[in-house]
Amino acid sequence: MICLKDTLFKPRVWQIFLSKIIEFFFPRYCFSCRRVLALNEHLFCRRCQKQVFLNEKEYLLKEEFFTRVLAPFAYEEPLSQAIKDLKYKNKIHLIREIAKFSRPYFEEIDKSFIVCPVPLHSLRLQERGFNQSLLLARKVFKNHRVEELLLRQKYTKPQVSLKGKERRQNVKGAFRVRYPERVRGQRVLLFDDVLTTGATVTECAKTLIKAGATEVKVAVLARAG
Ligand SMILES: [Zn+2]
Repeated sequence: MICLKDTLFKPRVWQIFLSKIIEFFFPRYCFSCRRVLALNEHLFCRRCQKQVFLNEKEYLLKEEFFTRVLAPFAYEEPLSQAIKDLKYKNKIHLIREIAKFSRPYFEEIDKSFIVCPVPLHSLRLQERGFNQSLLLARKVFKNHRVEELLLRQKYTKPQVSLKGKERRQNVKGAFRVRYPERVRGQRVLLFDDVLTTGATVTECAKTLIKAGATEVKVAVLARAG
């Protein structure tokens, strides 16, 4: 793992002046240290950004149903806490910050891919009130088609509580394609917030390939473990 590099540009005087005014009237705070963020900082201040770990290499998960996994960040604090707060403490405003923070790392994804978020079961959706993967996908992939191609038809136990083999068993047959005609012949980018063993995305990718998708790639915000 390597630390996030400082990629901030050098602003002009008027840009600094304007950003100070906006920061004063509409302050946003660093998720980690609560310092007021500059206009070109998102989620974390420059100092806390250095604590976010990037995954050094592309994650190679040996699977027959997808060609690639893009997982730019490690699921470590402070980013992991931001994701947990979004999901379990209902902090929806973090969507925009997380998306802006992570967008540059997904820029290489070809526009021909339809972005499909990993779906939640309707009961879990009711319980949480939103699907974080869908909301994040819409903000991160602003220039792509984002479509909910999959449906979660089986209410499964949370994967966190299970081990590798049990996880695969748990999600087996859990998904189905919502609109087969929109999947056939298409290239799909599956998107989820966190990847652990990959059992969920593998099952999703399998469902899409069986429905006629020509290629499936996987993109996740953070990889655990
Ligand atoms: Zn900070």
